[in-house]
Amino acid sequence: MAQTTPNHTQSVVGWAAHDPSGKITPYIFKRRENGVNDVTIKILYCGICHTDIHHIKNDWGITIHEITGIITKVGSNVKNFKVGDRAAVGCLAAACMECEFCKDSQENYCDKIQFTYNGIFWDGSITYGGYSEMLVADYRFVVHVPENIAMDAAAPLLCAGITVFCPMKDNNLIDSPAKKRIGIVGLGGLGHVAVKFGKAFGHHVTVISTSPSKEKEAKELLGADEFILSTNAMQMQAGKRTLDFILDTVSAKHSLGPILELLKVNGTLSVVGAPEAPFELPSFPLIFGKRSVKGSMTGGMRETQEMMNVCGKYNITCNIEVIKPDQINEALDRLARNDVRYRFVIDIAGGARE
Ligand code: NAP
Ligand code: ZN
Repeated sequence: MAQTTPNHTQSVVGWAAHDPSGKITPYIFKRRENGVNDVTIKILYCGICHTDIHHIKNDWGITIHEITGIITKVGSNVKNFKVGDRAAVGCLAAACMECEFCKDSQENYCDKIQFTYNGIFWDGSITYGGYSEMLVADYRFVVHVPENIAMDAAAPLLCAGITVFCPMKDNNLIDSPAKKRIGIVGLGGLGHVAVKFGKAFGHHVTVISTSPSKEKEAKELLGADEFILSTNAMQMQAGKRTLDFILDTVSAKHSLGPILELLKVNGTLSVVGAPEAPFELPSFPLIFGKRSVKGSMTGGMRETQEMMNVCGKYNITCNIEVIKPDQINEALDRLARNDVRYRFVIDIAGGARE
């Protein structure tokens, strides 16, 4: 996959999977020079998303897309960042900038969207993801990190955070006076941030999980009000028609039927988890409860900055386990086994701090 694009002159040390075994090893590749619209970022931390596992097993490449770091260079057109700023990059690297979605800063729904990983940038080069010491990014796809939140615990906000923030915002759950009963299915990287948002805005939050061991921490550590073990038929029965909104973050195949039953009439189930196999979607829980199922994909750049600002205001970050680059393979194995509380973050700069 290593390729040569004329202005790609900067050698970067990174790490990549080279075959479907998914093992990550060091890798040297080229990044572009800092153009007029670019900023260069010295990467400090990268979060590991479950999407990385979905990809690494199938693709060749680096996928990491939850990145925080410090700006080291700014192009001449860049007005909103300066050298030394705390910055962050998520899933998006480029979009057409002309369509109705781009004009409304919903770049994530542009049909020419290019991701930070395995994407093709405007100059024809491959975007290699954040799993390296340095990144050159177009300033329109970079956000500021509020001063009061730690750079390591902030990194996963760039995917896990924004992915749960947007559907909650779409359903008027962010900073709204109306208090709702919401359910979060799957208490992983995405799910635990969703619980924090829900509680920060005063909602009644129920965690729906397959892991009995997570009940205590869901309630005591994250402040969840209720916990339903989804494998327990009695608990699922007792939870029927109790929730206004549910966010499903589960990474594995499952049926949406029992989850839909937990919604009140007219409730909405927003799906952000991305299992490789199709969901089971039985018709009866849908039609008998006039319920809706929607999807949502990360967020646009304006919303990403808004989410970061909200996190700064409410002091919301992720619960993380910081690892060194040589522990990545072990971390990926543990993530695949549902054994992380709640996000791995790689210390890329090895102790260098902001
Ligand atoms: P994660 O940390 O691994 O969390 C996923 C959770 O799903 C687990 O903690 C577990 O929660 C539950 N789960 C796992 N296997 C399960 C099974 N076999 N049956 C039922 N529940 C199971 O993953 P993540 O990083 O939060 O990502 C979650 C999903 O969202 C992934 O599919 C990822 O690709 C996708 N994603 C989508 C977007 C988007 O834009 N829509 C963005 C980022 C990620 P419990 O132990 O509580 O059951
Ligand atoms: Zn992600």
